[in-house]
Amino acid sequence: MELIIGWLYPNLMSTYGDRGNVICLQRRCQWRNIDVSIVSLDRAAGVESFDDVDIIVGGGAQDRQQEIVMRDLKGIKAEALRTKLESGTPGVFTCGSPQLLGHYYEPALGQRIEGLGLLDLVSKHPGVEAQRCIGNVVFEITASPLAEELQTMLGEKPIVIGFENHGGRTYLGKVSSLGKVIKGYGNNGEDKTEGAFYRNAIATYAHGPLLPKNPFLADWLIQKALQKKYQTDITLTKLQDELALAARKSMLQRLEFNDFKTKV
Ligand code: GLN
Repeated sequence: MELIIGWLYPNLMSTYGDRGNVICLQRRCQWRNIDVSIVSLDRAAGVESFDDVDIIVGGGAQDRQQEIVMRDLKGIKAEALRTKLESGTPGVFTCGSPQLLGHYYEPALGQRIEGLGLLDLVSKHPGVEAQRCIGNVVFEITASPLAEELQTMLGEKPIVIGFENHGGRTYLGKVSSLGKVIKGYGNNGEDKTEGAFYRNAIATYAHGPLLPKNPFLADWLIQKALQKKYQTDITLTKLQDELALAARKSMLQRLEFNDFKTKV
């Protein structure tokens, strides 16, 4: 079996170690003898590069880079991305990427950047004087059916640990939130929502990077991608996640969540 990972604008969108998400997906496939190739969906890529992609990864970006990306993505590439996500191709989008998938992003300075409108959300930066949302974030995944699927996989509530650093505040319309904030700011620091979930696309403010800190999410993406591609039920072999587990435990302790007994 093999999977193709499409990486959106690696040179423009990879803040706070987000490339770790690509590496994590790649390694967790290779350790299971699943071949992986990585396709760069950047300015040099033609629209046909989207065709065979099985998983899409988009990282964070500063406001200026977001604008460059949006200019390039407009039109046929935006349509290709939309078609992929609408058809259930799994994806993980962090911070600046979800802002681009929404209706618009209003940066601290300058003009509103129109988004793809794929996610029913808007993001606004309250201005250069406003405090950024920075720090460790912990949230419970509540989006359906993701939460139920992860609960079955883990045998416990899916708790995500990450790191956030954003000026923009995101406000959801009808799209379901990815989760409920336990610690940190999440989408806007007001309504306790974190991220968004649509079809098989996970949108979040959590860097970390997200997937190495929460490997069950990487496995969920891999499983979905294989099932879609090969049209058959897939059970992934277990990996030795003791180190990731120990890192999660230690992080939760540092954040004073001694009562969470997460396994992975
Ligand atoms: N430019 C966005 C903001 O500050 C996204 C930042 C990021 O991707 N880390 O809100």
